[in-house]
Amino acid sequence: MPANKILLIEDNEQNRYLATFLLEQRGYVITHAPDGLTGLALAARGGFDLILLDIQLPGMDGHAVARALRRDAALAAVPVVAVTSYAMTGDREMTLAAGCNGYLEKPIDPANFVAQVEAFLPLRHKEGAP
Ligand code: MN
Repeated sequence: MPANKILLIEDNEQNRYLATFLLEQRGYVITHAPDGLTGLALAARGGFDLILLDIQLPGMDGHAVARALRRDAALAAVPVVAVTSYAMTGDREMTLAAGCNGYLEKPIDPANFVAQVEAFLPLRHKEGAP
């Protein structure tokens, strides 16, 4: 499999380190954004196969970032996966309504994280995927 490029929008250094470590170990190329505006600017350059999006971000929150990503037609085929510790009822629905393709819960589980992320990668090949 060619190296997939993942944009990781995450303000927490420990989560960023762990996610990057786990994904790079499996050959993924990770680009970091510490906040939503930086993430949107990087995403607009293109070239990413998947975007991992923290919801609790300084300034613009992850729901707003997801909506902004989804307004960019060039990114329509790029899966956006929320990674968040929010566990309240309805949050998953809010995340999906904002345009995310899926939702992974923190804390990151080192044994399963990469497989959880990879489950979203084939979406870009499927016509009419959510
Ligand atoms: Mn955060």
